[in-house]
Amino acid sequence: MATNPPKIKTSSAANERLRNLKNTFETKYGEAPLFYACAPGRVNLIGEHIDYCGYSVLPMAVEQNILSAVSVNNSGTIQLANTNPQYKDFTVSCSEDITVEKDNPQWHYYFLCGVKGIQEKCRIAHLAGMSCVVEGTIPPSSGLSSSSALVCCAGLVTMEANQKSLSKAKLIEFQPLRATDVKLPDGAVFVISNCCVEMNKAASSHFNIRVVECRIATKMLAQARGLDSSRLLKLAQVQTELKASLDEMLDLVDEVLHPEPYSREEICKTLGITSEQFSTELLSANTQHVTHFKLHQRAKHVYSEAARVLKFKSVCDSEPAESIQLLGDLMNQSHASCRDLYECSCPELDQLVDICLKSGAVGSRLTGAGWGGCAVSMIPSEKVDSFLQAVREAYYLPDPRRAAMEKQSLFVSKPGGGAAIFHEG
Ligand code: ADP
Repeated sequence: MATNPPKIKTSSAANERLRNLKNTFETKYGEAPLFYACAPGRVNLIGEHIDYCGYSVLPMAVEQNILSAVSVNNSGTIQLANTNPQYKDFTVSCSEDITVEKDNPQWHYYFLCGVKGIQEKCRIAHLAGMSCVVEGTIPPSSGLSSSSALVCCAGLVTMEANQKSLSKAKLIEFQPLRATDVKLPDGAVFVISNCCVEMNKAASSHFNIRVVECRIATKMLAQARGLDSSRLLKLAQVQTELKASLDEMLDLVDEVLHPEPYSREEICKTLGITSEQFSTELLSANTQHVTHFKLHQRAKHVYSEAARVLKFKSVCDSEPAESIQLLGDLMNQSHASCRDLYECSCPELDQLVDICLKSGAVGSRLTGAGWGGCAVSMIPSEKVDSFLQAVREAYYLPDPRRAAMEKQSLFVSKPGGGAAIFHEG
């Protein structure tokens, strides 16, 4: 039976990246690595900001990944280093409780989250000591999930170092998404382009404000339909409880919620809660300052985007003659909804998406959390070269900073492999 994750015999001599990482490891720690683990980044083709509302999304693994070289020892410590000097060395005792400074997210917190996740899941009483060098090729804070890949990679490292493995069912559960394969249409490719504005989710409150707005919208809709609003946290749960279609949910949003932003007072009055309860039960630590909430717009985005994911999948499954045009239209509608209703775009991303459409894309949209980061565009295969040239000339070359980043910022996304452990063999 195949193990999860797959364990692959490899030779660092045959792979330049592994060879370089091995050299760095040996220089740093004076010994050879015992194994390597990698986890890929991913690009979300459609379905933005709806996973935390309980809806499915459509991601594709990309070639860019987080790779880690590891040795195991009796030091009683976890030693971390990174090939990128921006990410500083860090050492922690295996028995120490991990504390996280919320306002200052350091790279090693993500790694230690992966360690802790596996320690709890596999009930490891005493973690093995280990030394690691991490190297990533996923542009960070750009919507390609570099931080999730880092957490997953650290989880794999911890499993392997402590000789644990997960059954397949658990592996899927370990990832945030339920997995069904979707066949993408022939004749089109996806191109990723980074607008070169970084948005670090953990260091800003944009993302959490949206999470909170969706939670409040959930309660307001539940309340209006006589459901027990205290029990419901996600917009998808209201749909399930009402046994309604997504179209019916969109009608319900129009009927129950007004487009003007809601004040705290109005929400408290409608839900019958005190201002104190509002702050402690509905808001997160970094959203206490927010005074107005756009509940109508956020709920509209979520239910319509959830419907677009289902339509996207159904076009891929049924492969009608005009598949590419239909999928492109859905991507364009998704971007408009993110920009206008969810307000998670930024001027640079909007400009880039416009340039992509003018350069031959059938569909183009922001991907990932937004407020910066990448766009994903669908291009008929025969137009890829002229597309890349046109985007280069219109978006990257006129600006020296973007021009310097172009090589790692504009690329055809090839579907990448999954997470894996490598041993020299
Ligand atoms: P993303 O959407 O790419 O996950 P986030 O802003 O959520 O963006 O996370 C980015 C953070 O992930 C970085 O600030 C850093 O802490 C961590 N990270 C990403 N790539 C690496 C890497 N190669 N090495 C170490 N840490 C990394």
